[in-house]
Amino acid sequence: MSRIARPQGTALLRFDNLTLGYNRHPAVHHLQGEIATGSLLAIVGPNGAGKSTLLKAIAGELRPLQGSIERNGLDRRQIAYLTQQATLDQTFPIVVHDFVAMGLWREIGAFLGLGSAQRRRVHAAIERVGLHGLEKRPIGALSGGQLQRALFARVMLQDAPLVLLDEPYGAIDAASVRDLAALVRQWHDEGRTVIAVLHDLAHVRQEYPETLLLARELVARGETASVLNPANLQRARQLAEGQGDGTQAAVCRLDRDAA
Ligand code: ADP
Ligand code: MG
Repeated sequence: MSRIARPQGTALLRFDNLTLGYNRHPAVHHLQGEIATGSLLAIVGPNGAGKSTLLKAIAGELRPLQGSIERNGLDRRQIAYLTQQATLDQTFPIVVHDFVAMGLWREIGAFLGLGSAQRRRVHAAIERVGLHGLEKRPIGALSGGQLQRALFARVMLQDAPLVLLDEPYGAIDAASVRDLAALVRQWHDEGRTVIAVLHDLAHVRQEYPETLLLARELVARGETASVLNPANLQRARQLAEGQGDGTQAAVCRLDRDAA
């Protein structure tokens, strides 16, 4: 995979008084701050906290209601964005190989054939995520973990300096989580910036040096160990409860993970 041209430590993303929402109703309020190039950042918070909304906006798929996101010259095509699982149509008739190869569409266009170098990259990506031998299987016949591996292979082919992952380990088996987390570490080592929405706080503590705790506003941001302290988690819970709109389940989940 290619080198990342940006020097480490400079701001890749800058939020200035960023307010996001839908139909003029704010979902995330007044975010301020920067995300440095090369960060490995977890976004954590109760259900409805605006985590997916924030990723969507970073990906350029949602316009701010107020304020701005600066991307330091980064093009939308340089952002690999894995959306939350529910939005994927698994009945779409496509086999693993072609599904993964779609990661190259920005390079080759939708209907052009693959060159031999590209074919090798597709196979390498399939191999890297442990799906070797399943190239011809329809994606509808994959387990949750296998499908997620295919999605990660596709992200790998996009070769993007910024990778956004929205709850990538939703309901998948432990072996898949372990393998895909290793791939995320590799992306980080390659100098890519990775931002992941996650709910397993133990996983976040183990894998992510930095965390942003969100509850419709910024609760805390910084080193994971200090962000995920009981006081901050309690504050996130209170902010979520104040909304009174079905955030309860995820609040309990945060509690359980914190215990
Ligand atoms: P999270 O990912 O933290 O669970 P979301 O970003 O999905 O939270 O949602 C934040 C808020 O925005 C919620 O109140 C949700 O109902 C609302 N919301 C999310 N997507 C849409 C949408 N497409 N249209 C209207 N409201 C939305
Ligand atoms: Mg979400």
